[in-house]
Amino acid sequence: MSLLDKDRIFTNLYGYQSWRLDAAMARGDWDNTKALLELGQDKIIDVIKASGLRGRGGAGFPTGTKWSFMPKEPKPDRPNFLVINADESEPGSCKDREIIRHDPHKLIEGALVAGFAMRARAAYIYIRGEYIREAETLFAAVAEAYDKGLVGKNACGSGYDFDVFVHRGAGAYICGEETAMLESLEGKKGQPRLKPPFPAGAGLYGCPTTVNNVESIAVAPTILRRGAEWFSSFGAENNRGTKLFQISGHVNTPCVVEEAMSIPFRELIEKHCGGIRGGWDNLLAVIPGGSSVPLVPAKDIIDAPMDFDGLKAVGSGLGTAAIIVMDKSTDVVRAIARLSYFYKHESCGQCTPCREGTGWMWRVMERLRTGDADISEIDMLQQVTKQVEGHSICALGDAAAWPIQGLIRHFRPELERRITERGGDLSPMQEAAE
Ligand code: NAD
Ligand code: SF4
Repeated sequence: MSLLDKDRIFTNLYGYQSWRLDAAMARGDWDNTKALLELGQDKIIDVIKASGLRGRGGAGFPTGTKWSFMPKEPKPDRPNFLVINADESEPGSCKDREIIRHDPHKLIEGALVAGFAMRARAAYIYIRGEYIREAETLFAAVAEAYDKGLVGKNACGSGYDFDVFVHRGAGAYICGEETAMLESLEGKKGQPRLKPPFPAGAGLYGCPTTVNNVESIAVAPTILRRGAEWFSSFGAENNRGTKLFQISGHVNTPCVVEEAMSIPFRELIEKHCGGIRGGWDNLLAVIPGGSSVPLVPAKDIIDAPMDFDGLKAVGSGLGTAAIIVMDKSTDVVRAIARLSYFYKHESCGQCTPCREGTGWMWRVMERLRTGDADISEIDMLQQVTKQVEGHSICALGDAAAWPIQGLIRHFRPELERRITERGGDLSPMQEAAE
């Protein structure tokens, strides 16, 4: 089922109206929020669980379940905290930016509702350093909410005290990893911590903490107002709700759009992007979930449902739903080599497989790009990705390995063509196979 306008949560996604508090209230934000809080903490968590909402930052962990991990009776010297991840840096991802630009009050109201449900004392919104204008908007929107008594002491007249702080990052991709973000908020170098313990056990300043993505938090008030059943009526089993898709690359009209989860790829592109540049026969491959997931060749993606399970079934993932479309004019080896450089650059250097492996992978990718590699290096590169995958503290190592694995799986003949055309030799194994 695809989405009708009346079912959109983000009604000001394109900024046709003002983001200011008055306009946000006219659109229904902050409408008797006190009544939502009066549902009680446990009920709010139950509704979010029943809605089927899964984390929108990429990993898809069930949001209500995550909230339920927080202690129900926080100690005075160990308060609960909510941290909102607005460090949106995944290549291709730009949805949280649109929410903050045009609908910041949905996020702030969501922070109050979610923070109350998990008995948090305060929310910290950690925003990507490069989002300068967006941070300005967010600071101003938070100030509006304080002025009107919507957050702060006795938030919305509920008797609940809840502060909202905005913290700007300084340009490191790794600070979007939740535990690196906690380190950074504490004023330390942003390097991921080993998990477990998960943040709900030991998070910000060692206190129980939940880290949620901007979109996951911003949809919560609407789910509570319209009901879990309404939200879960969209999408397929285990993949519920509406979702912001960000479509870039070789489509006729790239955009960010809210759609029903599980919409087939072709329908999404036809309905919102005016089709593929040059027609469907011109489609080469798609990275469907931001740069951390493997690319999928055209034939496998066209009918795939755009959700966690549908994309897993074609060897990739939904991630942040940042869909990078590549037509046949794309130098796919160069594209993946560029991503390899990104991960090499952004590795925090803490663990050896990632620090050394990302450099190795990038250097071999560069040789493959120019055709200067030996053909045996394709298998060697595959082995290096396996040495990195699953052997590092955080997901960046996996994220660096997977796009290369996808390239080798689907575009091996192209890698070999470059080498042989450039004069590189076939490996003995290949000669035997010829
Ligand atoms: P993860 O699967 O380790 O964790 C997801 C969330 O669930 C975390 O909050 C974690 O604390 C929680 N969790 C998982 N297992 C738990 C357990 N047993 N008990 C309690 N809590 C548990 O994934 P991750 O490393 O946090 O995120 C990886 C994803 O981030 C990737 O899929 C990628 O798409 C995405 N990503 C997004 C961006 C962006 O800009 N939005 C950037 C980089 C990566
Ligand atoms: Fe740092 Fe990479 Fe290890 Fe993550 S996997 S902690 S980015 S070195």
